Amino acid sequence: AHLDRIERYNPSLNAFLLIDAEGALATAREVDEARARGEELPRLAGVPIAVKDIACTKGLTTTAGSRMLEGFVPPYDATIVGKLRAARMPILGKTNMDEFAMGSSTEHSAFGPTRNPWDLDRIPGGSGGGSSAAVAGFLAPLAIGSDTGGSIRQPGAVTGTVGVKPTYGGVSRYGVIALASSLDQIGPCARTVADAALLHEVLGGHDPLDSTSIDAPVPPVVAAATGTRDLTGLRVGVVREIGDTGEGSAFQPGVIQRFEESLEQLRALGAQIVEVSCPHFVYAMAAYYLILPSEASSNLARYDAMRYGARTTPDDSPSAEQVMAASRDQAFGDEVKRRIILGTYALSSGYYDAYYGQAQKVRTLIARDFEAAFEQADVLVSPTAPTTAFRIGDKMQDPMAMYLNDIATIPANLAGVPGMSIPSGLAKEDGLPVGIQILAPAMEDQRLYAVGAALE
Ligand code: GLN
Repeated sequence: AHLDRIERYNPSLNAFLLIDAEGALATAREVDEARARGEELPRLAGVPIAVKDIACTKGLTTTAGSRMLEGFVPPYDATIVGKLRAARMPILGKTNMDEFAMGSSTEHSAFGPTRNPWDLDRIPGGSGGGSSAAVAGFLAPLAIGSDTGGSIRQPGAVTGTVGVKPTYGGVSRYGVIALASSLDQIGPCARTVADAALLHEVLGGHDPLDSTSIDAPVPPVVAAATGTRDLTGLRVGVVREIGDTGEGSAFQPGVIQRFEESLEQLRALGAQIVEVSCPHFVYAMAAYYLILPSEASSNLARYDAMRYGARTTPDDSPSAEQVMAASRDQAFGDEVKRRIILGTYALSSGYYDAYYGQAQKVRTLIARDFEAAFEQADVLVSPTAPTTAFRIGDKMQDPMAMYLNDIATIPANLAGVPGMSIPSGLAKEDGLPVGIQILAPAMEDQRLYAVGAALE
């Protein structure tokens, strides 16, 4: 049924870059046969899933949305893909994304934008717009995303779906194409909080192949998502510095209105709303756009046209360096180049302390803000994104306007804490989905699910 919907709607949505009907059906058939034999099967056996094209899939082209990796067929599976296979979940295909996960609209994909099922003229968020559009459009019941600054949560918000960024280190990054290694985190996209929890437990857990993977049990997220809806005594913090409505605010009135209604709902469920202050959050964007490009410039240095990936060979017996330069010039898009240049500059001797070093200090202050806030509150909440889905083309000429989409989601990546976006109704001005973000202390992912399920 999902493959039928993909065939019918993917031409207009462009959510999938690759559809593996044969592979998905083979897995589904094996599960059916095993079930007929009375074999005991994993909980999600037979449930189809879409995988963001940032995770390596053995034998299936993996591009990260870039011409640089066009036609690249990985010889191995990412750990999370191996887990999906062990869970016997049919992999429907690979989903579209901003090139190397840089963007908030999926318009930076080298393979054309993905469209939002709510309105085909609008963006589905990014960078994981393909995964969220697939889930929102019922082309897949579940999908995988990656979140470096909001790429699971913001697409979730603007497509009316659930998106979770687990605690940093909670899910293995092995075999996931790196954007910024200290910020990247894999997580679930789903239509309900309980669905996300089921997938979270499949994905999570220690992986010796990822040195930043946490060696601790996966937080009990399914139990939290399916437990009591009573939030009596729970302290919910509203961060004063996110979602201000003053003059020049990036936040759309309809987004703020839905957020305030969610706060009312939380009160009705027994929660106590407290205001907390995180004074350094206002510097999160600036710090992020130094740390991310710095790490990305280093990670993307591997695309040298020598070992794998696109190669452009200039005429007249070029040197290796000329081949590298020509290949990178041809195969990287503008946003990727912008960030490589910015990162290389920020890391260069003479500027390192002033930019990268300073940004790392700000990062520490943001982590301390979270620590202080979590002494006063069990979870924090905010709108996930400042606006509903904007029109395709609206922000492509203005990188700053694009970056502002992640103003509420970036602090969690800088501090490594988990975050979730769940739908909180439609904005009155445009009838488009709005998301509310829930944040919890590191390794307390189950709190997101308890609050998310209660609000849902
Ligand atoms: N939109 C943010 C960026 O462009 C976040 C990307 C992400 O989370 N992968 O960096």
